[in-house]
Amino acid sequence: MNTVIRILELYGDRELPLHVRGEPWKVAIGCILSQRTKDETTDAAFKRLIDRFPTLKQLAEANVKEVEKLIYPVGFYRQKARRIVEAAKYMLTHGVGTSLEELVKIPGIGRKCANIILSYGYGMPAIAVDTHVYRVSKRLGIVGENASEEEVEEALKGLVPRDRWIEVNNALVKFGKTVCKPLRPLCDMCPVRDGCKYFRNRIEKEKYPVAHGSGGKEKKGQYF
Ligand code: SF4
Repeated sequence: MNTVIRILELYGDRELPLHVRGEPWKVAIGCILSQRTKDETTDAAFKRLIDRFPTLKQLAEANVKEVEKLIYPVGFYRQKARRIVEAAKYMLTHGVGTSLEELVKIPGIGRKCANIILSYGYGMPAIAVDTHVYRVSKRLGIVGENASEEEVEEALKGLVPRDRWIEVNNALVKFGKTVCKPLRPLCDMCPVRDGCKYFRNRIEKEKYPVAHGSGGKEKKGQYF
């Protein structure tokens, strides 16, 4: 069993946040809201927004200033309010779309959000690479240090059967938040450490601190 499958088995039970549950257009709006914002803050803002504008048509006709007030304090709320109304107008006119190519045409939707919409909005096989999925994949060593998000997505697709792609984002997010944390990963209690490149490198550094020149200490924010 490879390390990613093992993570799916152990961390795949996380309940999805509110902002990625529901119809595809709502998932698109939730994904725009969530960028660089914690799930709890995003979910609360998403609920206020959808309670006030429960249909796509209502949101497309919303006043941007009112949307700003409803979604505050999510990060970049002014830009996001404008984007949300633009995205709603676009989806009302053109439809949401059911392919990656169509979805990335929606204002504010990039590849990650398009994959979120495919997997959580439509239940289609797709893998969204967010900050947690990216960091964990690089630390495990399933891609090189300079890999792009798209390369991470392709590598994960090669490691996980297609019928389980939909589970990958959710499981790796939970694992990344609770064990493989950004600054101080809990390697000593990690169930996949034997298959992890970061862990192997750390052990090497502890054995030969002078050769590695860091004394075994991790620098803030480094992946390797
Ligand atoms: S061993 Fe450490 S770096 Fe590797 S996956 Fe586990 S927590 Fe992350």
